[in-house]
Amino acid sequence: MGVGTGTDAIALALMGLGIGEGDEVITSPLSAAYSALAIMMAGARPVFADIDAERLTIAPELVERAITPKTKAILPVHLYGQPADMPALADIARRRGLILIEDCCQAHLATAAGKPVGTWGAAGAFSFYPTKNLGALGDAGAVITNDAGLAAKLRRLRNGGQSSRYQHPEFGVNSRLDEMQAAILRARLPRLAGWTAARRALAARYRERLTGAPVHVPPEFDAGHVYHLFPIRTPDRDTLQARLRDAGIETLIHYPLAIPAQQAMQTVDPAPCPVAEQAASQVLSLPLHPGLTTAEVDAVARVITG
Ligand SMILES: *Cc1c(COP(=O)(O)O)cnc(C)c1O
Repeated sequence: MGVGTGTDAIALALMGLGIGEGDEVITSPLSAAYSALAIMMAGARPVFADIDAERLTIAPELVERAITPKTKAILPVHLYGQPADMPALADIARRRGLILIEDCCQAHLATAAGKPVGTWGAAGAFSFYPTKNLGALGDAGAVITNDAGLAAKLRRLRNGGQSSRYQHPEFGVNSRLDEMQAAILRARLPRLAGWTAARRALAARYRERLTGAPVHVPPEFDAGHVYHLFPIRTPDRDTLQARLRDAGIETLIHYPLAIPAQQAMQTVDPAPCPVAEQAASQVLSLPLHPGLTTAEVDAVARVITG
């Protein structure tokens, strides 16, 4: 169901599942900070398990080690459009009796081991912020679930806890999906599959053109990757970014700081995550959007290969 933002989608899903004060939620240290901030919005504590050094999504064996008696849920992030290792994470959740909620804000139409992201656990959270694979003209988000009880609860939660007009028997927030944004998303949705195919083709082109280049191209672990972003890695990241800028090519860094290193997390879980920290110092997102041409991809690759 539609909600105001992707951050709200995560927070409301957690709240709808009864997660809050005193509970811990294990999540990824390399993501938009909003993943962890949404856990805090619900009143719970984010706990970071480090990422896999190649996949850059949360490492299942470290999730298992981060579990305490207070752990209630796992919130994997399908970072850059690459699905996390969902079969392993779902297995941990099942064995340890934990709720699984997926942050799908960068992974519209992605599949993990052939199964759509957002359908592995209790709920999936999506953002339609303008820069996402499916974007509105302003903020928008959605929660998906196949639990009818949770869906009903979320419809009340996003609407001030109202059961009927002006009746507020329970707590709720104001997180409506704006009608105008909904109309735009509805018009754009039929094009998402085509845009996704274009992103995959451009990513394949980058992989081909960057073969042998002096940078590390993170491997594709799952054919369900939807390439929200195309990060490469190099210890000389800042030099390379400057070189691309001089050639008129804009790149971005997702993300310059691991979340536990953010000042906002110092009272929450500042435990270092060295793999995420190293990745944060090396990743550089190359231009990638459905309107990019193969000639433009080749031009970027030429600057990188020198
Ligand atoms: C964009 C994003 C969010 C937050 O979504 P908003 O709609 O901006 O609130 C959360 N997690 C990830 C991984 C994101 O990319």
